[in-house]
Amino acid sequence: MLAKPTQPDSSIIDVAGIGVGPFNLSVAALLQQVKGLSARFFESREQFAWHPGLLLPDTHMQTMFLKDLVTAVAPHSTYSFLSYLVKRKKFYRFLSAELSCISRAEFSDYLSWAAQQIPSVQFATDVENISFTNSQFEVETSKGVYYAKNLCLGTGKRPYIPDCAQPYLGKQVIHAANIGLTSHDFSGKRVMIIGGGQSGADIFLNALNGYWGKPSVLNWLSRRANYQPLDEAAFSNEYFTPDYVDSFYKLNYQVKEREIDNQKLTSDGITQDCLLTIYRTLYHRFDVLCEPRWVNLLPHREMTEVSQADNIYQVQATNGLTQETEYYDADVIILATGFTTPTLNCLAGLRSRLMLDEKGRYSLNEHFTVDWDGPSENRIFAVNAGLHSHGIAEPQLSLMAWRSAKIINHLCQQEVFDLDSSDGLISWLQPLTQNQPLLQQAI
Ligand SMILES: Cc1cc2nc3c(=O)[nH]c(=O)nc-3n(C[C@H](O)[C@H](O)[C@H](O)COP(=O)(O)OP(=O)(O)OC[C@H]3O[C@@H](n4cnc5c(N)ncnc54)[C@H](O)[C@@H]3O)c2cc1C
Repeated sequence: MLAKPTQPDSSIIDVAGIGVGPFNLSVAALLQQVKGLSARFFESREQFAWHPGLLLPDTHMQTMFLKDLVTAVAPHSTYSFLSYLVKRKKFYRFLSAELSCISRAEFSDYLSWAAQQIPSVQFATDVENISFTNSQFEVETSKGVYYAKNLCLGTGKRPYIPDCAQPYLGKQVIHAANIGLTSHDFSGKRVMIIGGGQSGADIFLNALNGYWGKPSVLNWLSRRANYQPLDEAAFSNEYFTPDYVDSFYKLNYQVKEREIDNQKLTSDGITQDCLLTIYRTLYHRFDVLCEPRWVNLLPHREMTEVSQADNIYQVQATNGLTQETEYYDADVIILATGFTTPTLNCLAGLRSRLMLDEKGRYSLNEHFTVDWDGPSENRIFAVNAGLHSHGIAEPQLSLMAWRSAKIINHLCQQEVFDLDSSDGLISWLQPLTQNQPLLQQAI
C-alpha cells in the first residue's frame, strides 16, 4: 500500500477537529477569535450538511435561534445567527415574520453559511485513523497525514436500528435519518412509523399530508404511553444552563443516571406546535372532511419482532396496557428509533489508551477532555459524548457555544472567554444561605 502524503507544510497543528457537525463547527468558529493558534477541522462530507435526510417540509427547531454557534459567549462574532440574517439581507423581514421557532431548513442554511467562511474547516476529508507517536497525534486522512498537538472529537451519532429490524434494512425498511436522501412513493402502501419522538412526529405529519403520496394505511407506533410533549417549561429550561451542568457534573454516577432518565422529555418530547398541527390535521381530515379512517395512532406499544413474507412485513408489538401481542402488516417501515454512539473506526489506533467506563463511554473531565494514558499536555476533547457525565444538555444545541468556550479556555490555559455566570434561580446543590442543623445552632 502506498504511504499517504504528509500535510503540505508538515507543521504541527494545535488542534485537529474530527468531524464537522454543529458542535465542532462552534469550536472552529470561536477559535477564529484566538490569535496564534492553528486549527484544522476535518469533515468527510463534500460540504456542510445538518442531518440532511431529515430536512423535511414543515420541520422546525426545538431550540431558539439565539442558541447558535457563538452568541452565548461571543455575541459580536461574525458567525452569529444575527450576523447571518444581516449578511443575507433579510433581517427586517425576519423580525416581521415573528418566528418564535425557525425552520430546520433555515438553521441548516445558517450553519452552512458559517462553515463556508471558516478557513480551518476542510471538507471531503475522511479521518481514517489516529495514533499517538513522538508527542503528537498522527491523523491519517483520505487527503494525507496531519500532525496535531490536541484533538477535538465531534463525529456525532449514528442511527439506532433495533435488532429485530436489522435483517430487513433496505428500500422498504428505512431509518428516519435517511428518509429524505432518496425519493419514495408511498401511494396505496401500508406505511408503519416506529417511534414517538420528534423525528417520528415530523415523518408522520409529512406522510399524513401526502408528501410521499397517499398511503392506504398509516400506522404510528410508539413505546411511550402517549405522544408526549417536549417539556419546555421555564424551570425545565434551567437544565440547559451552565449553572446546572456545573452542578450536575459533581453528582455521583447513580444519581446522574436517575436524573437523566427523569429529564428525558426536556429533550426527547415532541414540540407543542407539532403536536397541535398533527391533531388539527387529523381533526380536519376525519371529523370535518369525514374521510374514511386510514390512520391508526398506536402509542404504548413496543415493537418486539419483524418478519417478512413475499415483500410484506409484519410488525409484532406488545400493547403496554393489555400486555397482548398485536400484529401489523406493512409494505414500508420507517424506523424513527433515534441515534446511538458508534464505535469509531478511526480511533482504533488510540482506543486502548482511552479511559472508558463499563459501558464503553469516555471518562470525560469537567473541561470535556477524555482521560487517557498519554501526556497531559496533549488533550483529547470530545463534544456530544458526555450525556452520562455532563447531563441532558450534552446532545443539544442549547449550550454548544458555552461548551466550545470552555474547551478553548482549557486548551489555551487562559480565560479567552468570560464564563463567569451569576447564580441561577434554583439552588441545585447547597444554597448560599443555608440554615445550620438546630443542634449545632444550640452549641
Ligand atoms: C433531525 C434532528 C434535529 C435536531 N434538532 C435539534 C434542535 O432543534 N435543537 C437541539 O438542541 N438539538 C437538535 N438536535 C440534536 C443535535 O443538535 C444534533 O444531532 C447535532 O447535529 C449534533 O451535532 P454533532 O456535531 O455532534 O454531530 P453531527 O451533526 O452528526 O455531525 C458529525 C459530523 O462528523 C462527520 N464525521 C463522522 N466521522 C468522521 C470521520 N471519521 N472523518 C471526518 N468526518 C467525520 C459526519 O460526516 C458529520 O458531518 C437534532 C437532531 C436531529 C437528528
